[in-house]
Amino acid sequence: MEQLAVTNCPKCGKIMLRGHTAMCLDCLDNIQSQLQKCIHYLRKDEEASIDALSVATGVSVKQIQEFIRMQHLSPRFYPNLFYTCRMCKGNTKAGNICEKCQKTLTRIR
Ligand SMILES: [Zn+2]
Ligand SMILES: [Zn+2]
Repeated sequence: MEQLAVTNCPKCGKIMLRGHTAMCLDCLDNIQSQLQKCIHYLRKDEEASIDALSVATGVSVKQIQEFIRMQHLSPRFYPNLFYTCRMCKGNTKAGNICEKCQKTLTRIR
């Protein structure tokens, strides 16, 4: 007998089908509409910072950082959006690790 492939949505805890999506369809919809709100706002104000964007759209700073990390919102196009450095948690345009920490890393090596 095949096991029923269900799991709990990591975001809202609802039962969902396993393996098709990272979270349930409701949460995916929700996140899509949050992303649309951000993109819509950035069209008017492409110099918005993450904080300003969060206040204007009601989307959490954490979620916006997630969009940036997933490259749904690219810091290349918006001068005041940044990645969060994995090491020092500072702002960076360089990717997962800021230039400062990259230098420290190469020095250790
Ligand atoms: Zn969910
Ligand atoms: Zn850093």
